[in-house]
Amino acid sequence: MSVLLLIGNALASEATHDSDEPPIPQSQTDAGQERSLEDTAEAEDSLPGTLTILDAQIPPGTVERLSWSATELFAGVSIATPVLVVNGNREGPTLCLTAAVHGDELNGIEIVRRVMHNLQPAELSGTVIGVPIVNLQGFRRGSRYLPDRRDLNRYFPGNTKGSAASRIAYSFFNDIVSHCDALVDLHTGSFERSNLPQLRADLRNPKVVALTEGFGSTVILHNTPAEGTLRYAASSAGIPTVTLEAGGPAELEIKEVKHGVKGVQTLLYTLGMVKKVRLWGESEPVYYRSSWVRANRGGILLTDVALGSTVREGDLLGTITDPMNNASTRLFSPYSGRIIGMARNQVVMPGFAAFHIGIETAKVPADESGEDLNLHDAEQNDRLSE
Ligand SMILES: [Zn+2]
Repeated sequence: MSVLLLIGNALASEATHDSDEPPIPQSQTDAGQERSLEDTAEAEDSLPGTLTILDAQIPPGTVERLSWSATELFAGVSIATPVLVVNGNREGPTLCLTAAVHGDELNGIEIVRRVMHNLQPAELSGTVIGVPIVNLQGFRRGSRYLPDRRDLNRYFPGNTKGSAASRIAYSFFNDIVSHCDALVDLHTGSFERSNLPQLRADLRNPKVVALTEGFGSTVILHNTPAEGTLRYAASSAGIPTVTLEAGGPAELEIKEVKHGVKGVQTLLYTLGMVKKVRLWGESEPVYYRSSWVRANRGGILLTDVALGSTVREGDLLGTITDPMNNASTRLFSPYSGRIIGMARNQVVMPGFAAFHIGIETAKVPADESGEDLNLHDAEQNDRLSE
């Protein structure tokens, strides 16, 4: 219940009901809305709850597919990126879902599709804005990056006079993100690494904490966002944002997709935006600390653990074999914890981050977490995925 209160305060001053109670559709505004809906043809322009976005007016109770185009593009050709909007019949917060900011991260695209196309505007309180492929140019080339090799997720909130990446980021941030009361940015691991479905969240921010508590059984990793990420920029603008990591790049992984869908649907329920949902029971641990175990030699990495498995200090994680002289070295876990991210089997260079271990520690006090958090690793985490 405290979650609902916190989120209610944090996300939407106009949110009117608690989802455990019967719907209260007849606040003063809602009464006006009900009346208008019977008379849509005459009153469409003045309907309360109409969303104006990307030069379109979207009345309550409707679904719309819009296009967003960044103002500055590489070849003078406009690339229209689809934006899906479901505007509910009842008032409530605006939740945004963004995927494929990195163009090779496919799981989030399918998560957004499944969530958006299951929403019924007549039964929705608030609005959901879904952008399945933010970095359409990267997606078309199967690349994480923009065509100039820049990482779009290092340029938010962007500006109108910087690099192409800055301008694209600025356009997206102002045209779309500024409408959000809360944002879930969907990612996967990078460079042949896969992540256990997990939320990356700055747990020093109470609004973000409230958001993480809405996802049901999903691992939470405390992680201060790197400057330039969408999560950093949106949170800095007062829009609580979490990153949902699920799986690895360049593949559609249905198990991870289903986990993500269930998490977001649970969030919609927790936010009081939908009524019916399959609720999860046990919550997953919160990891206030994590660390990467790196390859000490180059060679062929074969892993001996599975994503999500629990390890103890000294457990074997994998073996790296030099393909030339056949010498093998074994990687052992320096920590007790849980494998929350790991490399797929592949050829690695010395120093390659191979296993990401979530370490359960005492709760980190707000704003005093620098030393305990191992900030170097926290930064590294951001580079490796989000
Ligand atoms: Zn990513």
